[in-house]
Amino acid sequence: MSGARPAPPPQSLIAARGARATRTRVQTLGTLLAAHEALTHHEIERRVARSHDVDRVTLYRVLEWLVGQGLAHKIAGEDRVWRYSAAGHAQGPSATHAHFECSDCGRVVCLDDSSMPAVSLPRGYRRHEVEVTVRGSCDDCQR
Ligand SMILES: [Zn+2]
Ligand SMILES: [Zn+2]
Repeated sequence: MSGARPAPPPQSLIAARGARATRTRVQTLGTLLAAHEALTHHEIERRVARSHDVDRVTLYRVLEWLVGQGLAHKIAGEDRVWRYSAAGHAQGPSATHAHFECSDCGRVVCLDDSSMPAVSLPRGYRRHEVEVTVRGSCDDCQR
């Protein structure tokens, strides 16, 4: 989802973590920032490969590194395939947000502006994370 403010370039986001902005890191983060939906490893590989050769293992490590650095997050779809997104990370620490998954085409979109439902837990329970996914049909599939 595109926000009102333009995202800082991937180079500066990576440099702000005190990390080396390798070509694959920059290209991968740039690909995620430019995408309007969460992308699978395969989709990212295809897009990054347009500018330079990247092997699967390197790309996998870079994706996990971006997640570990808080520059991206991953969501498992109904098909159990991980999808990666940088939505909500460019402007600061990522807030938890809901996702939309299309049951027809499998597309997963970050709902940046959604507020998460408040769920109260029984006494003594502790929450680690909250995941909210709305399933339905995307605009393309409804046409
Ligand atoms: Zn769809
Ligand atoms: Zn998301």
